[in-house]
Amino acid sequence: AHLDRIAAVDGEVHAFLHTAPEASLATAAAIDARRAAGEELHPLAGVPIAIKDVIVTNDMPTTSGSKILEGWVPPYDATVMVKLRAAGLIPIGKTNMDEFAMGSSTEHSAYGPTHNPWDLERIPGGSGGGSAAAVASFEAPLALGSDTGGSIRQPAHVTGTVGVKPTYGGVSRYGAIALASSLDQIGPVSRTVLDSAMLHDVIAGHDPFDSTSLTDAWPSMAEAVRRADVKGLKIGVIQQLDGEGFQTGVLERFREALDVLAAAGAEIVDVSLPSLEYAIAAYYLIMPAEASSNLAKFDSVRFGLRVNPPGGGTVEDVMSATREAGFGAEAKRRIILGTYALSAGYYDAYYGSAQKVRTLVQRDFAAAFEQADVLVSPTAPTTAFKLGQNTGDPMAMYLNDIATIPANLAGIPGISLPVGLAREDGLPVGIQFLAPAREDARLYNVGGALE
Ligand code: GLN
Repeated sequence: AHLDRIAAVDGEVHAFLHTAPEASLATAAAIDARRAAGEELHPLAGVPIAIKDVIVTNDMPTTSGSKILEGWVPPYDATVMVKLRAAGLIPIGKTNMDEFAMGSSTEHSAYGPTHNPWDLERIPGGSGGGSAAAVASFEAPLALGSDTGGSIRQPAHVTGTVGVKPTYGGVSRYGAIALASSLDQIGPVSRTVLDSAMLHDVIAGHDPFDSTSLTDAWPSMAEAVRRADVKGLKIGVIQQLDGEGFQTGVLERFREALDVLAAAGAEIVDVSLPSLEYAIAAYYLIMPAEASSNLAKFDSVRFGLRVNPPGGGTVEDVMSATREAGFGAEAKRRIILGTYALSAGYYDAYYGSAQKVRTLVQRDFAAAFEQADVLVSPTAPTTAFKLGQNTGDPMAMYLNDIATIPANLAGIPGISLPVGLAREDGLPVGIQFLAPAREDARLYNVGGALE
């Protein structure tokens, strides 16, 4: 049914970069046979899942939305893929994304944009617009995304889906092509909170292949949804994200959701995180700095594309011609920005200062979590904007990330879930909850109560 749906709508939505119909049907048949033989399978066995193309798969190409990796089929599976396959989920294809997960609209994909299923003229969010659009358009019931500054949560917000960024270290990053290693985290995308929780339970857990992987034993997120109860829960409204710069229809739905939670017995309090004023500036130094280093490996020798300069040349000439042809404008912008911020003489002024701001953000969160069990804000300032609206203005694109970036700087978990449609444009609105590190289950509790 999902393959039929893809055939019917993906020409317009363009959520997928690659689909694997034969392999999917073969896996499905194998699962059916095991179930028919009486084998006790995981509840998600046989459920199709779409995979963001930043995650390496040993049976499908992986491009990370870039020309520089066109045609590359990785020799191994990411740890999350190993876990999905072991549980019997069926990877049906790879989803579109901004090149190397840099962006908020999927317009920076080298393979053309994805369209928002709610309005094909609008962006599906980014960088994981393909995963969110696949789930919103019923092409897949579940998807995996990656979130470095909001790339799971902001697409969920603009497509009316659920997206979760787990605690940093909660889900293995082994086999996720790194954008910014200290910020990246893989997580679930789905249409309901329970679906995300069940997928979260499959992918979480320690992995010796990821040196930042936590060794915690995680409680069941699905149980947290099933037992959802917000009576007595203190929910802190982030003052810096509740007014200026936010669309009226977004704020209306946000406040309605707070009323629902209050009626269910939650206590709504105000909290202030003054350092959020500097969060975007700090993020857009730290992230490009790490990205410029991570992307250095795409040198024409080890992976994907190789472009020989006319008339030949040195190895540097080949690398330079390949990177010139293989990287898009946004990737180049960030490589240059990051390299500059890390260069001798500027390191302390830019990268060093940004790291200090990062510490201030972490302290602000620690203080806020003394006053509240979870924090809340709209997931992004506006509903889905029009394709092309912000492509000429990187700063406008970056400002979209104000509500999502802080969680990555602090390493804490966040969830975005739909709370209806904005009055002025009829487009989906998401609410975001944040919890202290390791307390992902609190997000599923409050999400379950609201759903
Ligand atoms: N929009 C953010 C950026 O462009 C988020 C990216 C992400 O989470 N991968 O960096």
